[in-house]
Amino acid sequence: MTFKERFYKCGVCGVENKYIVYTSDFISGYSDFDMKPVGSIIGLGASIMECPNCHYANYDIRTTIVSELSNNLKLWNSLSEFQNIIKKYSGTLRKILLVAKQYENNMDYLNAYKTYIMASWVSDDKKTNKFRKKAYQIFTEKILPNYNNNLIQIGDILRMEGNFKNAIKIINAVRELTDKSDHNILKVLDAEIKFIENKDKKRHNLGEIFSEK
Ligand SMILES: [Zn+2]
Repeated sequence: MTFKERFYKCGVCGVENKYIVYTSDFISGYSDFDMKPVGSIIGLGASIMECPNCHYANYDIRTTIVSELSNNLKLWNSLSEFQNIIKKYSGTLRKILLVAKQYENNMDYLNAYKTYIMASWVSDDKKTNKFRKKAYQIFTEKILPNYNNNLIQIGDILRMEGNFKNAIKIINAVRELTDKSDHNILKVLDAEIKFIENKDKKRHNLGEIFSEK
């Protein structure tokens, strides 16, 4: 890892400070099964800068992830979710959590999920579980439904193409992952399974299962 010193103005409080900018060197080797990269965990989060004045943190301290935080120290100081992280945590974990929370608030769930996983990597055994759970919660509630919708779409396309073998594989996999309380999705999946079983290549409309008859 190589580093340079740079002066940047904080995107929240406007105070200029010196930061160390890291450029990571390529380290060869395999990552863990949960994608934790090879090498020292000190490198993780090293490229996140934290303003020593207001404790705002971002990969680029000059910009904010949540646009209303831009040049808004008053708002930053009044947001208890960020202030609690600043009080409760320190070092790399704090920087990572401040970034994760911004992604989460900005509804950038994919980056929020990835950043909470990163938080689990740099945490001790007691805290790691908490951040894994948080990542899992974001994934199942905010990310998985989008993946599932895309998978249902491709399953339907495969069925209309007459590729029933692959269509049923995909639809069954989604059904397996779908929560039992998700009645609407289950209704769609069950209808799709029927179409596939009947070797039906026709186009179908959701009104067929959702409109009152
Ligand atoms: Zn600042």
